[in-house]
Amino acid sequence: MSNSTSASPAAGAVALLGGTFDPIHRGHTQPALELADLFGWSRIHLQPCFAPPHRPAPHASDEHRLAMVKLACADDSRLFADDFELRRGAPTRTVHTLMHLTQVHQGKSLCFMLGMDSFISFTSWLNWTEILDLAHLIVLPRPGYDVAQAPRELQQQLSQRRSEEFADFSQGAGRIFLARTTPQDISATQLRAQLAARSQLPQAECPELLAPQVYAYIQAHHLYRE
Ligand code: ATP
Repeated sequence: MSNSTSASPAAGAVALLGGTFDPIHRGHTQPALELADLFGWSRIHLQPCFAPPHRPAPHASDEHRLAMVKLACADDSRLFADDFELRRGAPTRTVHTLMHLTQVHQGKSLCFMLGMDSFISFTSWLNWTEILDLAHLIVLPRPGYDVAQAPRELQQQLSQRRSEEFADFSQGAGRIFLARTTPQDISATQLRAQLAARSQLPQAECPELLAPQVYAYIQAHHLYRE
């Protein structure tokens, strides 16, 4: 990847990637780790959501999704399975999760990662302007999605808020960083479809798509078979 920023004063920021993680895959962890290298983050919170209000229920249970996130974290000590939303036991909107993190990590900036697919619909999120008061957005490239697809309102926000200066992300909130992490053409939907059709992933593809220990868990618990 080649974002051009060259120092890392944002190292102390709290980095968060929320998702259904049904299952967690390399499209989640690889860009997050590349950004941790770039920004110098020491911890990335991977937070499985309780049940996304805007989407159908996850296929795997909360327990299985969290177990897979924990297993994925074994790959790198900076990855941290954050069960806040699951422990809370109620659907939690991003804005509320970020309010909680602001309280817990007072004095630190929040860097909220989201894929380009999510970013282009960001203006439909609950209290999206408030989210920008609480956190910086770190947008991960995702094949098939382009910033040009964002609505005009978001384009305007982007032109005002976009930054590539690390220092901007070490304090305050509301800056937007369009990351140039290695694009990962992986989706949980595709993975589930592959597993349902064949119940096994091709040996060579598996480690590219998801952590082997996550795959072993899926196999052991017969997840995504239909
Ligand atoms: P599904 O295919 O079921 O929609 P998903 O693969 O998008 O799932 P989620 O758990 O919904 O996975 O995604 C969590 C976050 O990670 C979202 O912000 C999403 O945009 C981002 N993300 C997921 N996969 C990728 C990817 N391959 N590249 C970049 N960002 C991704």
